[in-house]
Amino acid sequence: MFSLKNKTALVTGSTFGIGLGILQVLARAGANVVMNGRKTPPDLDQLLKELSSHGNRAIFIPADVSQAKDRERLFQESLKAFGRFDILVNNAGSFFDSGWDRLNEETFDSTMNLNVKATFFMSKRVIDHCRELKQKGSIVLVASTNSFAAERGSPCYDTSKGALLMMTRSLAVQTFKDSVNVNALCPGLVDTPLVRKLAGDDATFNMIGRNVPKGRFCTIEECGYAVLYMVSDEGQYMTGQHITLDGGILAVQHTAVDDLGAKTPS
Ligand code: NAD
Repeated sequence: MFSLKNKTALVTGSTFGIGLGILQVLARAGANVVMNGRKTPPDLDQLLKELSSHGNRAIFIPADVSQAKDRERLFQESLKAFGRFDILVNNAGSFFDSGWDRLNEETFDSTMNLNVKATFFMSKRVIDHCRELKQKGSIVLVASTNSFAAERGSPCYDTSKGALLMMTRSLAVQTFKDSVNVNALCPGLVDTPLVRKLAGDDATFNMIGRNVPKGRFCTIEECGYAVLYMVSDEGQYMTGQHITLDGGILAVQHTAVDDLGAKTPS
């Protein structure tokens, strides 16, 4: 069940954080995996050793997916290394907002270029490949709870993540006649180096975690298991949809009444 044996999976932005968690789970399911990042991680040998300890193989390809040439090279080198290409997880994405007053066209363009444009064209490359060879394929877009609900201070990020949900549906509609499924993962708050850095210190990080309805951050591995279903043979009927992994964040109504400290039935 959920075996990815002999399949090739590329996860963009997977040297640490959510991408690495997804890559670890896909490798455990037997996939030959391609780790990608802009920079070579300091613990590369150890990471590749762990990732390739499941009767599979693992390689690292440095590439900046916001660059068209790098995207094509990343796809070609992955294909060449394993002789086939089956699974793409578009995880690389970033947060460039740094306040409304500093927001300019550069902030907007860099956000859209990486979070939206790179995801669209990496996906198109894989769809065209699967179509050409008449083979199965699975694509996952890493969106966010910010695809549904906006946060103060992140208008560009929110806009980009909202676009990814519609892109998921739109790419699914283009591929109904192909053996390709396209879905999104929408995490809430995940324990990653980026989030720890944004929190600033351990006390703030722990307080944020406690404020999640489930009382903790999501783990990078939990993100991996949600992706595993969507890219598995068993999950092929799911397309144009998303899995929200938010520990209940979007299920709760936060109102002014809460701010007043009013007692509500528990
Ligand atoms: P992150 O944003 O710090 O990304 C880590 C990885 O992305 C690294 O491997 C890095 O090399 C790579 N990367 C960054 N820019 C790249 C580029 N241009 N080309 C190739 N690789 C690049 O880590 P994260 O917090 O794990 O976020 C991963 C994804 O999950 C992002 O799309 C983010 O928006 C989304 N997300 C994160 C959270 C969270 O709580 N961390 C919540 C919801 C969604």
